[in-house]
Amino acid sequence: MQPAPEPRAPGVGATRDAINDPWGPRTPHPGSAAIDWPTRVDARITAQPERWVHSVCVLCSTGCGMDVAVADGRLVGVRGRAEDRVNHGRLGPKGLHGWEANQTADRLTRPLVRRHGELVETSWDEALTLVTTKAREARERHGKGAVGFYNSGQLMLEEYYTLAVLAEAGFGTANVDGNTRLCTATASTALIESFGTDGAPGSFRDFDLTDAMFLVGHNMASTQTVLWSRVLDRLDGPNRPRLVVVDPRPTVPARRADVHLAPRPGTNAALLNGLLRLIIERGWIDSPFIEAHTTGFEELVTTVEPWTPERVETVARVPAARLEEAAEILGTSPTLVSTCLQGVYQSLQATAAAVQVNNLHLVRGLIGKPGATVFQMNGQPSAQNTRECGVNGEFIAFRNWHNPDHLADTARVWNVEPSTLPAWTPPTDAMHIWRYCETGQIRFLWIMATNPAVSLPELGRIHRILEAEEPFVVVTDAWLTETARRADVVLPAAIWAEKTGCMTNADRTVHLSDKAIEPPGDARPDLEILLEVAQRMDFRDRDGQPLITWRDAEGAFEAWKACSKGRPCDYSGMTYAKLRERSSIQWPCNEEHPEGRERLYEDGVFNTSPDYCETYGHDITTGGAYEPNEYAAMDPGGRAFIKGAEYLPPPEEPDDEYPMLLTTGRVTYHFHTRTKTGRVPALAAAAPETFLEIHPDDAARLHIEEGDEVEVGSRRGSAFAPARLTGIEPGVVFMPFHYGDWDEPGRERAANRLTMTGWDPVSKQPHFKYAAVRCRPTGRRAETNAPRQAADAQPLAAPAGGRR
Ligand code: SF4
Repeated sequence: MQPAPEPRAPGVGATRDAINDPWGPRTPHPGSAAIDWPTRVDARITAQPERWVHSVCVLCSTGCGMDVAVADGRLVGVRGRAEDRVNHGRLGPKGLHGWEANQTADRLTRPLVRRHGELVETSWDEALTLVTTKAREARERHGKGAVGFYNSGQLMLEEYYTLAVLAEAGFGTANVDGNTRLCTATASTALIESFGTDGAPGSFRDFDLTDAMFLVGHNMASTQTVLWSRVLDRLDGPNRPRLVVVDPRPTVPARRADVHLAPRPGTNAALLNGLLRLIIERGWIDSPFIEAHTTGFEELVTTVEPWTPERVETVARVPAARLEEAAEILGTSPTLVSTCLQGVYQSLQATAAAVQVNNLHLVRGLIGKPGATVFQMNGQPSAQNTRECGVNGEFIAFRNWHNPDHLADTARVWNVEPSTLPAWTPPTDAMHIWRYCETGQIRFLWIMATNPAVSLPELGRIHRILEAEEPFVVVTDAWLTETARRADVVLPAAIWAEKTGCMTNADRTVHLSDKAIEPPGDARPDLEILLEVAQRMDFRDRDGQPLITWRDAEGAFEAWKACSKGRPCDYSGMTYAKLRERSSIQWPCNEEHPEGRERLYEDGVFNTSPDYCETYGHDITTGGAYEPNEYAAMDPGGRAFIKGAEYLPPPEEPDDEYPMLLTTGRVTYHFHTRTKTGRVPALAAAAPETFLEIHPDDAARLHIEEGDEVEVGSRRGSAFAPARLTGIEPGVVFMPFHYGDWDEPGRERAANRLTMTGWDPVSKQPHFKYAAVRCRPTGRRAETNAPRQAADAQPLAAPAGGRR
């Protein structure tokens, strides 16, 4: 391993207080391609380092390049890497503090098996014997479909790739998906529906160069603090870009916006249809680009025609004048960077709405150019890798499971008969994996590095499935999470910094994270566990040789390079040595682009040809899949698809019994279900408790005061949270989804006790942003009302550009 260069940051101490100032001091950027985003190295070191190890932050999809400091076999700090293209040295609060989670006293160090209802320690041999016996039994007695894998957005590329071969070519099951289904499955489907395959068209550097930004359901200030620093450096610099934000809450980005649109939850498709109608009607379109590089424009014109500003105001409750102000910015700016995240993906008509943002760029010809792109953003650090490696309900390396040539090519790479691959059915999405567990079709479920007992919707149902006698549940994790507590076998995992592997961020940047320290006790990397299971199962290729031939992370990476070669996510030109030397590299990286490629589609040619595309597409309103012959008949010849979508009213409306709408989301200091961040003292102290955001008018009507405990009830269950009176839209309440009960067993505060089992018809991503609820004060005061950290406080006053 090549040692990282010596530190440039100060010695022991911190360069800044990232808890009270998550984004750090400004380094304004003038928006010129001739000037790089200035460097600012953030560091936090608690003891004198003996050595520095090349790594990447794994607490969101930004993927900030960092080095980790090691002394006496322990982590003692981190510093941002100045030369990294993603962060130019910066780190946010989770990056600067999150590493402390590795060394908490309650890490799992020994395998556990359930005996007489209790989880008790055992040996690896006994645990893996039980795992393979149960998996083999399920497969032999009930067929290949009786085995399921539910993975994560937090493993490493090499682990996902190994899982893909093990599950699909070994077990032969189509039941493989990740928790990325809950997070950014829609990012993938929106890109595929418009451009033919997955993969971000642009580069984070486009934020430096653009004239306008459009954030749709994306609270970037909380979810991606370093990327928001990059935006702030434009907003506070010369040549300030204009900013339009769509969010029902007055978030930090909403408060900085020129125009803030606060639609009623569930109405994104109506709002975006209205914006597109105005832009088309005013002639703010690039007709030559539409003609040469797209197909479907006329259908879009017809679809958006009914969506006058007045109709949008009626349905989405966004004032017509405000919509026109936004359309003027989005329609006339010479360049534009748009982003979508959970406010789109976890809401109703997720794919339909996300595709309308793609359409905005296509009708304006603003894609594949500096400062002009759309980010269908990711959430988790390696969400992109689950998609690339095909363990998220898709097929490997953006291949098309429906295309016999792609199937044969995969079989060639893995040296198996095509018939062994589970191509008789579309890959199973997570929501159906859980349904198959409920109905008894899946008898063996292996959950890796994720915590569905807090993160899935309608938790009462998920807990019943996990606690039932079948399926047999295996959990690999580093802590005894709410899910692990309900498992039959728990395998202790090594995590980031304790193993080597790659992660790919939301702008296709690949980082290598080297092993820095030993895992605690007997904990082992997921890669090692998967390799041993493959060996114990004795899976073979068509020549009778072991199916999986690699023994370590670099071997897995080399195998993945061969598999990805020729596909959009081509890694064939990368090596571990090159990744260490360059800090990070974007894919595709191959003979044509040996240093990686910053932007896709610069020539206006998209990945939509029938022999290259990732799926044959869907009707994005109904979810109906097109057949190969239907796709061939409309062969777009490398042009992008413009797909219109009708607005559909929500499946659950507020009524007398449940008169308010709940939306859920994230806070700045926590990641997912707090498994790591909840164990880091500074992060836990910054956001120790859940809360219910409610408008003061609603609170007064319900006799709720700041800090009162509120019971929030839906048709699925109830949860308790202290009230926080904010400038959220009247009639709408918000709860963060992070809080389960691992630290206070039995506490009913998880927001997902309230959410519904329902999903987008194309991406199959569940609905977390829309549920009818009622709120009533319990008469108790909360012991702690979460402190109002500036990053997460929502002021009572309406933002300047907001609705009221
Ligand atoms: S922005 Fe994301 S990747 Fe960067 S330091 Fe913060 S949590 Fe880590």
